[in-house]
Amino acid sequence: MNAVTAAPRVRFAPSPTGYFHVGGARTALYNWLFVRRLGGSFVLRIEDTDRERSDESWTSGILSALEWLGIDWDEGPYRQSERRELYEQAAERLVRSGRLYACDCSRADLESRHPGNPTPGYDGHCRDRALTPGPGRALRFRTPDAGTTVVHDLVRGDVEFANAAIEDFVVVKSNGDPLFVLAVVVDDLDMGISHVIRAEEHLPTTPKAILLWNALADVPTPTFAHLPVLVNDKRQKLSKRRDRVAVEDYRALGYLPEAMRNYLALLGWSPADGREVLSLDELVEEFRLEQVNHSPAFFDEKRLQHFNGLYLRALPLSELRERAAPFLASPVAPWPDDAFDQAAFDALAPLVQERVATLGEVPALVEFLFATPFEPDDEAFAKLVAGDALAPVVLGQARDAFRSCEWVAANLKELLAGIAVAVDRKLAKAQAPVRVATMGRAAGLPLFESLVVLGRDRTLERIEAALARLGPG
Ligand code: GLU
Repeated sequence: MNAVTAAPRVRFAPSPTGYFHVGGARTALYNWLFVRRLGGSFVLRIEDTDRERSDESWTSGILSALEWLGIDWDEGPYRQSERRELYEQAAERLVRSGRLYACDCSRADLESRHPGNPTPGYDGHCRDRALTPGPGRALRFRTPDAGTTVVHDLVRGDVEFANAAIEDFVVVKSNGDPLFVLAVVVDDLDMGISHVIRAEEHLPTTPKAILLWNALADVPTPTFAHLPVLVNDKRQKLSKRRDRVAVEDYRALGYLPEAMRNYLALLGWSPADGREVLSLDELVEEFRLEQVNHSPAFFDEKRLQHFNGLYLRALPLSELRERAAPFLASPVAPWPDDAFDQAAFDALAPLVQERVATLGEVPALVEFLFATPFEPDDEAFAKLVAGDALAPVVLGQARDAFRSCEWVAANLKELLAGIAVAVDRKLAKAQAPVRVATMGRAAGLPLFESLVVLGRDRTLERIEAALARLGPG
């Protein structure tokens, strides 16, 4: 165990091989929350040793998603691709001390010695052959034959692994490429990492890392904390093929980083008093690694949406307006930029704010103001206008009443209520054809407030157009 009392040093070490996964974001956040309260350091390390699968564009995606989430780093980003020399030197040292040995067994050799076993552990064939390292020869770690390696894990307690079950694993490939397990240990040592906080999927390789660490240095290993896996509603591990997992996607859908952060923080941890909505400062203050739960955490998109709605409704209007802006312009908005009218949007913004869970839902609510040309939704029109025998009467009377009245919501409502009584309908039912004719949809913002912003001319025009579309009675 690490007995060091100095401020902790953690690292977040993503592999840039795809979109930034919500699980990665949760790992980054836990590392960050852990050090921020204790005044420690957060090191960012890009693990791009797998040259074929790594790509600089994935790295930029990760950096930008971290920035979006407000997770800043004190050091880095370091790139493993630029640190190869260190791994080679470490491997040389381990060869000299006899901990690594050269091995020229091919996969075919292994298979021929263990027919029918598709994944045989290494059988130690080259252990005592004293081959000279060189091209075409991998380097394997000589694992102890007896005893146990214990991972002291802050989340899972002590996890013991029998050394006899740990094969002599490859550390440097036969083409000379250092493997991930070596790079991680060399870097954690070199960077003075005190706590390794990472996904649970790395727990099985941790005993190998500990063996390597102890072979390389005479300092205590970091303290480990393996975070619970994230699962979907069927209790399956989140997967990019099945589930929405890319942080970038949530951002594009109009989730707020503060809501995302709050929700991610609760995937495996919750404060003792059960509070759920916590500001960033509160999260930093309350978060404890020791309280992280080891059972799988359900990543519930609906719950995230609920959190986002809470955060959206709490925004001051000016802020909502700013955050919504990218969703109200090209290429996202379904209208040309010059059709947008900020004052019209602002007039309805308070009503919009009460009704959306994500910023991505905003354009649909105000599209009736900016769409050019305006076309009511066909299905809604067929059902609530063409399919309603009284619609022509309601629309005709509304047009007549709206022509010269004072253009305020209370007035419009009173006039339509009068029409509803005249045709023996509930007001809500009488609103439906007017709503579809003027706002294009069956549901949305409150009708009368919307018409006020739409204006008399456009309202009358649209009612006329709907009547014309219905044709002579
Ligand atoms: N690069 C690994 C990953 O992206 C993390 C390894 C580690 O944290 O030790 O899953």
